[in-house]
Amino acid sequence: MSSVISKPGHTGHRSVRRAELPTAPHREGAPPESSNPYSNALQQLANAAEYLNLDPGLHEVLKHPQRELTVHFPVKMENGTTRIFTGFRVQHNIARGPSKGGLRYSLQTDLDEVRALAMWMTWKCAIVNIPFGGAKGGVICDPRALSMLELERLTRRYTSEISAVIGEHTDIPAPDMGTNAQTMAWVMDTYSLSRGRTVAAVVTGKPVAIGGSEGRADATGRGIVCIAGEAIKEVGLKLSGSTVAVQGFGNVGGVAARIFHEAGARVVAVSDAIGGLYNPIGLDIPALVECANRDGTLTTHGGGEKIGARELLELDVDVLVPAAVENQITAENADRIRAKVVIEGANGPTTPTADHILRERGVFLVPDVLANAGGVIVSYFEWVQDLQCFFWGEDEVNAKMETIMRRAYTDVRRMAQQSDIDMRLAAYLIGVKRVADAITIRGIYP
Ligand code: NAD
Repeated sequence: MSSVISKPGHTGHRSVRRAELPTAPHREGAPPESSNPYSNALQQLANAAEYLNLDPGLHEVLKHPQRELTVHFPVKMENGTTRIFTGFRVQHNIARGPSKGGLRYSLQTDLDEVRALAMWMTWKCAIVNIPFGGAKGGVICDPRALSMLELERLTRRYTSEISAVIGEHTDIPAPDMGTNAQTMAWVMDTYSLSRGRTVAAVVTGKPVAIGGSEGRADATGRGIVCIAGEAIKEVGLKLSGSTVAVQGFGNVGGVAARIFHEAGARVVAVSDAIGGLYNPIGLDIPALVECANRDGTLTTHGGGEKIGARELLELDVDVLVPAAVENQITAENADRIRAKVVIEGANGPTTPTADHILRERGVFLVPDVLANAGGVIVSYFEWVQDLQCFFWGEDEVNAKMETIMRRAYTDVRRMAQQSDIDMRLAAYLIGVKRVADAITIRGIYP
């Protein structure tokens, strides 16, 4: 799990570019399978637009990111050579407020992935009703292959390159895959130096010592467990005693596994990019967290049977939390998912085709745009605290975040029941409509 002193990306990333999805026969009534996250995000938007009978012009506006910046920048490496890196910052929509979204360091990232992630941020902020639009950033790099000094130089130069489009009232980055609180501290410091004053609110997910919020590090994982506690009631169970499998053991998955464990759930399987562990009587999660912090992977721990990260998805558990990367539940394996409830910790882990199959099979799925919103909610709290220079205690932060998460869950669940639709479409109807209404009320300039 990433912490402020550890190197970002410590818990193992794949070092290959996004692979094509395994092929599976086409399902009648299902949208075509795609491994491109932006195509999938557009498909999800199209489903909502059709249901909402959205004006075609407005649909067109929402399909396109408002602003995209691609930067190629040099970094002096420790061996004396100079390497060029490519990074992106995409702002999808700012109708409801400044744009907000994480910063991803990954070899697999590209402009389409960042576009999708930015669009998903727009819906997420609208669904939980916080006053932000959506954005995302990415740098094509393997953070595990860079030294701390190289990571710092890369982060500072990238920040400098995008500093024209970010700011505490315009676009506010946060951590995502491969980045952590230390990365955010470098972003904040670099931006502040360019302005000649400390601008704490330019970024969230910072260390508490420099204006970060209590509770931010755990927020996404805590929000997932909170939503899982609601969702599991739909299948007549309660969290305590239920079995859980978590794919991904970083900021999101590692924290969620720990909080599931503390809440009395039996976490039987976890995995990182290198592999996973399975133990039907329950894994020793605190020991695994310690192991991942020490070794950079949980696979060196001997407390369970070794399994693959994809095999984990097919285990017979009550709750499955994909909390790693996109395109994990696809047309190829959706028929074999045995979990009763799927809580999407990652962004985009389920393709639209797989969504269709899970729905047909009666799997209760809570979508990313709702399930992993705890992080951006506490980021919103951090931003508010920084702007006011007035800080709250952790219990207050957690309680306020859980109130917003439960309210959003109830709104989405009601919409799903009233319209007899799945939770993703219900969440999109709420989120897309809020954004479309904001654009309509503001009007299209000139
Ligand atoms: P992270 O870098 O902290 O951790 C990612 C984890 O996934 C690591 O354990 C890594 O080893 C593992 N992983 C990578 N590739 C994998 C693969 N192919 N199979 C299995 N495991 C793999 O990243 P994170 O911040 O935990 O983000 C994970 C997901 O959650 C991303 O989709 C991200 O966009 C989403 N998310 C993050 C936040 C946040 O606050 N950090 C908030 C909302 C959503």
